[in-house]
Amino acid sequence: MSELRPITPNPLEYASSLESTAILRLRDNYDLFIDGRFVPAQTGRRFVTSNPATDASIATVAEAEAADVDDAVRAARRAQAAWAARSGATRGKFLFRIARLLQERAREFAVLETLDGGKPIKESRDVDIPLAAAHFFYYAGWADKLEYVAPGRTVAPVGVCAQVIPWNFPLLMLAWKIAPALAAGNTVVLKPAETTPLTALLFAEVVEAAELPPGVVNIVTGAGQTGAALVAHPDVDKIAFTGSTAVGRNIAETIAGTGKRLTLELGGKAANIVFEDAALDQAVEGIVHAIFFNQGHVCCAGSRLLVQESVAPLVEAKLRDRLATLRVGDPLDKNTDLGAINSRRQLEKIRELYDVGVAEGAVPFQPACTLPSVGNWFAPTVFTGVAPSHRIAREEIFGPVLSVLTFRTPEEALTKANNTPYGLSAGVWSEKASKVLWMADRLRAGVVWANTFNRFDPGSPFGGYQESGFGREGGAAGLLPYLEVR
Ligand code: NDP
Repeated sequence: MSELRPITPNPLEYASSLESTAILRLRDNYDLFIDGRFVPAQTGRRFVTSNPATDASIATVAEAEAADVDDAVRAARRAQAAWAARSGATRGKFLFRIARLLQERAREFAVLETLDGGKPIKESRDVDIPLAAAHFFYYAGWADKLEYVAPGRTVAPVGVCAQVIPWNFPLLMLAWKIAPALAAGNTVVLKPAETTPLTALLFAEVVEAAELPPGVVNIVTGAGQTGAALVAHPDVDKIAFTGSTAVGRNIAETIAGTGKRLTLELGGKAANIVFEDAALDQAVEGIVHAIFFNQGHVCCAGSRLLVQESVAPLVEAKLRDRLATLRVGDPLDKNTDLGAINSRRQLEKIRELYDVGVAEGAVPFQPACTLPSVGNWFAPTVFTGVAPSHRIAREEIFGPVLSVLTFRTPEEALTKANNTPYGLSAGVWSEKASKVLWMADRLRAGVVWANTFNRFDPGSPFGGYQESGFGREGGAAGLLPYLEVR
């Protein structure tokens, strides 16, 4: 096991290319969106949302408590029967309208997502926002075809849906939740994460502009307590949660015996498996994308690299060279590859697990890069010499930290890949389709990518096994949790 050393950064630096924030019409204060209107929290309480790249506060946001959540759920209940009674084609028209409005305001959404969450503008611009619009387009098409979701059976909406989403893909997770729910005739109350509430509130403006009936979409902002009040509300029929396994477990316990439906999309510790016969340069690009996309704040991130022993030194060397060219810095710069860590709390968690990795004897490599002096930053990191028993091989770090393990045979790769309590995603790199299919059949993961990683499509179901949760989002399968099939 050889220690990886930093190499000199490329002297040919890029000139900065900053995306302007002039397109935003930021307000100082944002309110809750309940029953088609923006209203302050009943207690008047607010919290600050700030830019993780600079620590500068952006705005204050209303903090919903149980009474506000109750108002939102009541509004959703009042609106539900009439929304379900509209024809599927009419609901579809509303969803198409939302999709088009998202496209029209895409730049504004992208800049706001980057400002509030720290992700590089090229990702919010090219991935988050277009995919969010694509989800609304996709489910708009399903709204008048629901009988084909379960042929020969009758389907009906489940009612009022409580949806709690995380901070890593704020608008995209909103789209994953709201689009299928509305297509199926449900109404929703959605709680965005405390650190990234702004694009959900901008989305509320889109809902207004699309002239959705009041109460069909309600947005309540706040912290974990707001989410807890929402999932515990007695008049909620279905809960959709994306976030940590700990909170997912807590929600499952809270609602046990209530009859509420539940889907959980939780964490992951995906294996990205590179065989010696893979196109190694492409694989290295895939490895980098798998773990450093969105600073590694990705539930399906390829955070465990399993590389065949015969090519491990070569792959590690190529990876080290590639890391030296990654640009870490201002998320609004169009050249930036890695932006800011979403919150101080998440940065501390990453630092803690980094220290654990060093203490366990793994060897870290970080390229020479200067991190900004304010804000939350962590350099891209690759740990080699990782053993399956190490905590950095088992626990979700949810940051730009890759753990490299090696294997000799496909069977060993499979055993190591499946040696996890999670089961959300995996990647296989090989020129042999038979080998890829053999692996894909045996990997216990909801999604298996072949010679690529982190590719998403609204028509493709996504979800996990074991501690990664249950239920599927995306595709026709993503409608089932929002339908009563009789
Ligand atoms: P959480 O699971 O705490 O947050 C996810 C969402 O749930 C947020 O909107 C949060 O609100 C809300 N929430 C928190 N507590 C409760 C509760 N008791 N009842 C209902 N809703 C609640 O994730 P964290 O932000 O704390 O991140 C911790 C770790 O979770 C990360 O390090 C990562 O490992 C994992 N994670 C996984 C994600 C995934 O996509 N699978 C996404 C995010 C995190 P608020 O943010 O306002 O506290």
